[in-house]
Amino acid sequence: MNVSPEKKSFKTYMADESSPSSFARYLDGELWETKDTLREEISQGEVFQRSSYGLTLDQNRDLTVERLKYMLTRPIMRHHLQDQMKEKQPGFITKSMVITELICSADMGTGVKLGVVCGLFGGAVNNLGSPEQKETWYLPVTDLEFTGMFAMTERGHGSNVRGILTEAIYEPSTQEFIIHTTCDDAQKMYIGNAMKGNYAAVFAQLIINRESQGPHCFIVPIRDSHGVLNSGVTVVDMKHKEGLHGVDNGILIFNNVRIPRENLLSKFGCVLGLAVQAMAAMKLGLIIAVRYSHSRRQFGPKDQEEVKIIEHQTQYLRLMPHLSAALALTFTTRFAGRMMDHALCKGEVLQNNSSLQALVAGLKAYSTWENMACLQECRECTGGMGFMMENRISALKCDSDAFVTFEGDNVVMLQVVVKELMTQYSKQLGKSVFGGFIKTWTSSVSDSFRTSFLGLNVDTVGDLRFLLKALSYRERVLLRSLAARLYAKVEKNKQEFFDAWNCCLHHVTCLALAHIHRVTLEQFALAIQECPVEDHTLLSKFCLLHGTSLVYQERAWYLEHNYLTPTTSRQIRTQLLELCSSVKDVALKVVSDFNVPPCCIQAPIAGVPNPRADWAFHSQPEYPIRASKL
Ligand SMILES: Cc1cc2nc3c(=O)[nH]c(=O)nc-3n(C[C@H](O)[C@H](O)[C@H](O)COP(=O)(O)OP(=O)(O)OC[C@H]3O[C@@H](n4cnc5c(N)ncnc54)[C@H](O)[C@@H]3O)c2cc1C
Repeated sequence: MNVSPEKKSFKTYMADESSPSSFARYLDGELWETKDTLREEISQGEVFQRSSYGLTLDQNRDLTVERLKYMLTRPIMRHHLQDQMKEKQPGFITKSMVITELICSADMGTGVKLGVVCGLFGGAVNNLGSPEQKETWYLPVTDLEFTGMFAMTERGHGSNVRGILTEAIYEPSTQEFIIHTTCDDAQKMYIGNAMKGNYAAVFAQLIINRESQGPHCFIVPIRDSHGVLNSGVTVVDMKHKEGLHGVDNGILIFNNVRIPRENLLSKFGCVLGLAVQAMAAMKLGLIIAVRYSHSRRQFGPKDQEEVKIIEHQTQYLRLMPHLSAALALTFTTRFAGRMMDHALCKGEVLQNNSSLQALVAGLKAYSTWENMACLQECRECTGGMGFMMENRISALKCDSDAFVTFEGDNVVMLQVVVKELMTQYSKQLGKSVFGGFIKTWTSSVSDSFRTSFLGLNVDTVGDLRFLLKALSYRERVLLRSLAARLYAKVEKNKQEFFDAWNCCLHHVTCLALAHIHRVTLEQFALAIQECPVEDHTLLSKFCLLHGTSLVYQERAWYLEHNYLTPTTSRQIRTQLLELCSSVKDVALKVVSDFNVPPCCIQAPIAGVPNPRADWAFHSQPEYPIRASKL
């Protein structure tokens, strides 16, 4: 079998070689041209034709550096990084998300390394620095003169950034800061690009006149342009991890390193990029699993051809809800990006916009967990082939596993969401934090009677409005009951707030997820209104599936709260099965419309040849005729 892929344009291998469908364009959004340019750049880049599977740690890291350099030197990237330095660039975040998604589809390690160098280090310098600091510390990054890193986490403190122990003591006589690792627990850990980077944005307690002023950010030189470490800096390689082998994570230790006063920076960065990275991994996993499920055959009626594995009920029940979630995330991350761009253009400091922070924090937690669940299903749904490295799913799982804890552990992120919801709620109630909660609680109970009436009518379950109301109801009830519980513990029983909050932590996380579930379904519903008319039916089905799946997951809660009756609960289950069955064929078109270049897919079981495993090749599935009916 001759399957060695020549260097071809990305369009060559797509299921449909004509121009992308209206749906593919709609999924790409307004920046489709940027996406197409990036697809072409990635497809033409020799560094992306090579597979990173089977390389040593060092080879893997070197390949990632080559890929990063290749991407940073593309004209589209250079312009974008120059824009990063300008104030109030319209659409900057949206474009960053598009770039992140495409590069992560090609290689998660390169995407993460780019995130460290440009997003975290670059973000720290650009968001926190003066124009002069940007010129000094970031412009050379865009010219590949040096790269940076982001050093926040310590051995002793990860999630609790306020507790970090690295010190930056200000010395007035020399106007210098002295950066020092005060003890073992103060060592900076897991730092990406630690073995190659030249500068680090280091977070440390600022000490002036022996008093701590809280965590601040400082730019510290780590090694010169020849790679020689600066005196007072020790770097330890953390070597092997579960995934992201191309990213060199290490430990940084500072022994009274002196830096000039202008190296102080004083604000913080954001996490939306991670939600997009997780979504990119999910889409890849789904492309591979859905294509294979449409070509692999096992079992069937007696004396007849075996059926495609997608025909097995459990197969489509496991994959289709994740596909609908990937679509929901496409629209919700786009919405969050637009909101962020809007806030930036208005000159808002993002760190002060708590509702935006709550949205981004919730999205990060939901998308990264959803991604892990999705990839595990993709791996199982592709049997033994899914376990083979050349088919990508295992590596994607390992590469994106870290996302659930890094840049803010998900459980901690969910608490950020709820703190914002509680703040908004107490503002609605008036002065006292939970004043009037009893009145509101009473209305919440009556609200439960009013809305649960819907649950008694089987006909309404298949209506998107019912699902939207159900998710919104759950969020409201969880919010009000949490406020009531906290009020009772803190105000009445005089419990310490930390203990009260901790007793309610499970409730807190349920509320945060209920909130983000509701937001994703709302954004999905809005996306239907704006989509091309020919894609309306298709998108409506997936939206209904997303809502049904979210209510189905929480059916025990809805039953507890009399929102669903046993009959409507059973109806939700039947509806889930029917919807999954009805979209399983058109799923092939949807994953094709994700428009991911073949060199990013690489998996032979998805019908993309890979010279390292030509024996695994499965030809691309043909579209089932029924799919065209949707
Ligand atoms: C591959 C990789 C790359 C990384 N790159 C960088 C980098 O470049 N720069 C950098 O600064 N850091 C980096 N990190 C570190 C990362 O950001 C931290 O791992 C993360 O902040 C979590 O900190 P921790 O690991 O110390 O977990 P901990 O804070 O010790 O938390 C452990 C667990 O305890 C629980 N927990 C903690 N606090 C709470 C709470 N308040 N409520 C409920 N549960 C809680 C959660 O389950 C949590 O996962 C990287 C990590 C990895 C794995």
